[in-house]
Amino acid sequence: MARVNPLQCPFCDNYLRAPLDIDFGKIELTGGICACSAVYVLDRTGHNLGAIFMDALTFACKGEIDKALSLNPEDYESVDYNYDPHSNSLCRTGKSCKLVFVRLKKPLTGKNNKN
Ligand SMILES: [Zn+2]
Repeated sequence: MARVNPLQCPFCDNYLRAPLDIDFGKIELTGGICACSAVYVLDRTGHNLGAIFMDALTFACKGEIDKALSLNPEDYESVDYNYDPHSNSLCRTGKSCKLVFVRLKKPLTGKNNKN
C-alpha cells in the first residue's frame, strides 16, 4: 500500500496548494510560496535538480538572480522531496517529479536601488 503524504511545508507544516506556473519575466517556474516565506519549485523531470534549485533560490529572492547568486549556503535552508503531481502528495520513492523547498534564514534587505 502506497503511503501518501499531503503536500506540506517542511519548515512550518502548513498544507500547500499544488505548484502553479509562475512567470517572473527573467525566469519561469512552477511552484508556490508558503505563509512562512518558504518557496517551492517543481522539477517535472526529476533530473534537473541543480537548475531547479537555482530557480528556487531566485524565486526566494523575488526574482533577483544576482541576489540568489550571492547567497551563501548558510543563508538558506533547503529540502527536496519526491512529488506526485497527480495526487498533490509527497512520496518517498519514485520516478516522480521533485519538489525543492528553499527558505531564506534572513529576510531580504530591500535596498537594491541599482536603477
Ligand atoms: Zn512554511
